[in-house]
Amino acid sequence: MRIVLTSDPSLTSTFRDIPLLDFLPCASVENVPKFIYKILDTQLPDKDGKLIQAPYAIRKVEAALLINDFKREEVVVAHPKKIEKFIDEKTTIVGVNTMDPYGMGPVTLMFTDGGRKTSYSKYLFTSFIRRLRDFRERKGYKFKIVVGSQAGWQFELKQDLTEELGIDHVIWGECEHVLGDIFRDIETGVADKFIKIKTWAEVEEIPPIVNPSYKGMVEVMRGCGRGCRFCSPNLRKARFYPIEKILQEVEVNLRFGQKKMWLHSEDIFNYMVEDRRNFYPNEDAVIDLFEKILEKAEFANPTHGTVAGALAAPRILKKISELNRAGINRWVGIQ
Ligand code: SF4
Repeated sequence: MRIVLTSDPSLTSTFRDIPLLDFLPCASVENVPKFIYKILDTQLPDKDGKLIQAPYAIRKVEAALLINDFKREEVVVAHPKKIEKFIDEKTTIVGVNTMDPYGMGPVTLMFTDGGRKTSYSKYLFTSFIRRLRDFRERKGYKFKIVVGSQAGWQFELKQDLTEELGIDHVIWGECEHVLGDIFRDIETGVADKFIKIKTWAEVEEIPPIVNPSYKGMVEVMRGCGRGCRFCSPNLRKARFYPIEKILQEVEVNLRFGQKKMWLHSEDIFNYMVEDRRNFYPNEDAVIDLFEKILEKAEFANPTHGTVAGALAAPRILKKISELNRAGINRWVGIQ
């Protein structure tokens, strides 16, 4: 297989569907015994080694390659535990998506005494990449190990470790609009080691996912625009997906039996916001979004929102609750 994509094993766990346990990889190996982690670490299922549902980010990479002239039979999204099955002498790139590879994210630093202990995110990522590196060496294969992450800075900061792990390229930033060229440059050996993408994809350049995402994740907007100075999503240009594009991703998940969706945004109350001065929510647009999705799906849960938006337009929360038939045994959570 020419291109083999995967996510590091800390991102392919369902953690027994316990809410917020996805943060468990931030805990340290020293504090949480490995057998406890193992009990809680229920991995996503696969079919013949391919992930049935995959983390959203790697699904976006898959879709971006397919619209950039890579053929379906040349690209696979594999389960990290079974990745070797897809790698052969024809493989040019093994692409690994990761979130906090060296355990330097803010939550992780909190749980590891400022990085003095080893987080599970670091332990799992580095063990996985060492496994890939050793496999490449043992088989004499020539594929490049390429990691993609918003935490690309960690690889640059800890270059000795990046070298030791045998990582060939690091890509960070939004990539859909340039990924085809970057992958071709990597294949022909002319790409830089650290590839920082400083431009944003326009909405039309972001392809919908073509296979189901973990938790039925669908993105409804990118960036935020509210302007909090400390915030990295705020550095991105705010863009909203039209409802037709969102429904395409909902359909992909529904086709595979995933009836509950997570609507990803930095701030759901900012969806299609027109008031860029006070950020008063576009109430009708947000409610319409949930109405349209819930005509098809069983449940639609927003990922993030600000208290300011909720207080400014309480009708939105009320309508989202009604549309989802929220109740004592049917919670709609928001971070
Ligand atoms: S509202 Fe949240 S996502 Fe938006 S700029 Fe502020 S902190 Fe960032």
